[in-house]
Amino acid sequence: MSYDDQNIFAKILRGEIPNVTVYEDDETLCFMDIMPRADGHCLVIPKTPCRNILDASPDQLNACMKTVNRVANAAMKAFGADGITLQQFNEAAGGQEVFHLHFHILPRHEGVATRPPGKMGDMDAIKAHAEAIAAAL
Ligand code: 5GP
Repeated sequence: MSYDDQNIFAKILRGEIPNVTVYEDDETLCFMDIMPRADGHCLVIPKTPCRNILDASPDQLNACMKTVNRVANAAMKAFGADGITLQQFNEAAGGQEVFHLHFHILPRHEGVATRPPGKMGDMDAIKAHAEAIAAAL
């Protein structure tokens, strides 16, 4: 399977479609998921192309994990969370829908289930959640 540079996250990286950015550095971008399954649900991606964990380089993975670690701790603080669910899917059979490597960060609270996938979030709330995480970074 080869990388398709027309995927949505590649378009976000090129600035062709908007995103709500939480954090970025030279190698990674963290932005809000538009269909959040928990308040503060955000995604970490490498700025260079790869489909998923199967073709990612050690450098891409290292850079993503560094950002995941930073943002997850900030999200814990921002939402007074009890934990973080980290999700990452590979190929369609593995549940992947967007074929640019990404890690889902979901702040979690005891006894609160995640919301079902596929429902657009409220953009004002999503922006406020991004600001809260960014402020905690
Ligand atoms: P996965 O490929 O891991 O199954 O899921 C892709 C994720 O990308 C989903 O959680 C979905 O809500 C999110 N997503 C899909 N399209 C967009 C988009 O245009 N912008 C943003 N920010 N997230 C998106």
